[in-house]
Amino acid sequence: MTSAPPTLPTRLPAHHVIGGAQVPAATGATLDTVNPGTGQVIGTLPAGDAQDVDRAVASARQRFESGQWRDMKPAERKKRLLALADKLEAAAEEFAVLETIDSGKPISDTRNVDVPLALGTLRFYAEAVDKVHGEVGPTGPDKFSYAVHDPLGVIGAIVPWNFPLLMAMWKIAPALAMGNSMVVKPSELSSLTALRFAELALEAGLPDGVLNVVTGTGQDAGAALALHPDVDMITFTGSGPVGRQLMRYSADSNLKRVSLELGGKSPHIVFADYPDLDRAAAAAAWGIFYNQGQVCTAGSRLLVQRSIHAEFVEKVLAVARTIRPGDPLDPATQLGAVISEKQMEGVLTRIARAQQEGAALRLGGSRARVETGGFYLDPTVFDSVSNASSLAQEEVFGPVLAVVPFDTPEEALALANDTDYGLASGLWTGSIDVAHAFARRLRAGLVWINGWDACDITMPFGGFKQSGFGRDRSLHALYKYADMKSVTISLSQGFPA
Ligand code: NAD
Repeated sequence: MTSAPPTLPTRLPAHHVIGGAQVPAATGATLDTVNPGTGQVIGTLPAGDAQDVDRAVASARQRFESGQWRDMKPAERKKRLLALADKLEAAAEEFAVLETIDSGKPISDTRNVDVPLALGTLRFYAEAVDKVHGEVGPTGPDKFSYAVHDPLGVIGAIVPWNFPLLMAMWKIAPALAMGNSMVVKPSELSSLTALRFAELALEAGLPDGVLNVVTGTGQDAGAALALHPDVDMITFTGSGPVGRQLMRYSADSNLKRVSLELGGKSPHIVFADYPDLDRAAAAAAWGIFYNQGQVCTAGSRLLVQRSIHAEFVEKVLAVARTIRPGDPLDPATQLGAVISEKQMEGVLTRIARAQQEGAALRLGGSRARVETGGFYLDPTVFDSVSNASSLAQEEVFGPVLAVVPFDTPEEALALANDTDYGLASGLWTGSIDVAHAFARRLRAGLVWINGWDACDITMPFGGFKQSGFGRDRSLHALYKYADMKSVTISLSQGFPA
């Protein structure tokens, strides 16, 4: 991709996409779209509520029951999804710029990571459409039995702001590939790419109502979707408290299925026997500072073996000092803005608390000023952090690293697993025995050995413990958007003699 300066879009999406039409909120109310890189309002979104959600769910239901998408020949459904992927690829630069001005991510990330990964996700699931098979049952000569994957119906997807297009695509692509219809509720802080994508879907020939996008706050639009009696499943990525609320909404409505991808406090473990500590230090720094620390799999707890602790922390600090916040639209910027003023203040409050709790601040700790204005934080490193402290136990979701020293592998394992979360984990070691022992015993859905954040669409992604349940990515994700149906035909005549 290019490293040229980006061109700002001439038009920003500003309407829901419901039943193939671009419409304002039923009440006419709007929310501001703020560019975190400047702090300026750049547009408005519909402030959707239960009325808009009702319309979108009715449209998705009507299209599902029509069979026009669900019963489309798999090869044709695949063709339409691949056509949509081609449109996304052709509009990749527009999407990268929209994502940057909406979320504060550096343009080099949205160009090279967010949009290409979203595209890869869409193509992966499009290609899978005609490779989903049922099973034939071993039920004996007097019966013929088979089991099929039936699409669930109307899927509600509620997604966060940290990877707006990519998190939406992790849900949209497998759910549509399985023949469902959808209502997507993006974060009110970052709705532009989801809206634009729904517009492209119409251009690519997806029937109206298959993919609806309703914007609005979690309280108004999100809760209405999650409580809706005609939604069959909520697939969610976001925070733990909202995940709990969604389970309650399911219980209080129609027992809709719920899939939760929640937060993390992921341990990044470095053993003294790893031969290339410079490489591990660069990964440790980027493992927390990438995307301004707003990553559910951020390596926010760095566990370092005591014999290399002082040397290793110096190496991490040396890398961190080279990472300066800058204008997200500048192709040279590596660290952009955090999503909002509220998020920035929240991170600063947690930094102040860590200092009160006695953690040693080695770098950063304050708001950074960038000439564009906006919401920026310095990369921040705390050393000699107690694993019991709030800094080591609570998700900060900002560029704040907590270093915790350890002596033995047993201690490292105990510290790593001493958390309510279980999303990602990783270690650097020269010992294959240690690598396999930790891979087996770490209580986390992702284990990375000698390389942080080694993600791939073919591998399942999701959490243990309070990091949620259900998996995104890989072929496994397809099946959560379907129920299994057993069909049995009784052969009363038996076999002819
Ligand atoms: P959030 O939970 O505040 O919001 C996520 C979405 O839920 C938004 O669309 C929001 O509008 C909606 N929402 C809020 N309240 C709601 C309610 N009462 N009913 C229905 N919907 C509601 O999360 P966030 O701040 O947008 O994202 C950050 C969080 O997401 C972090 O905790 C991060 O770890 C997590 N995350 C997890 C993964 C993963 O795959 N495990 C990936 C990315 C982010």
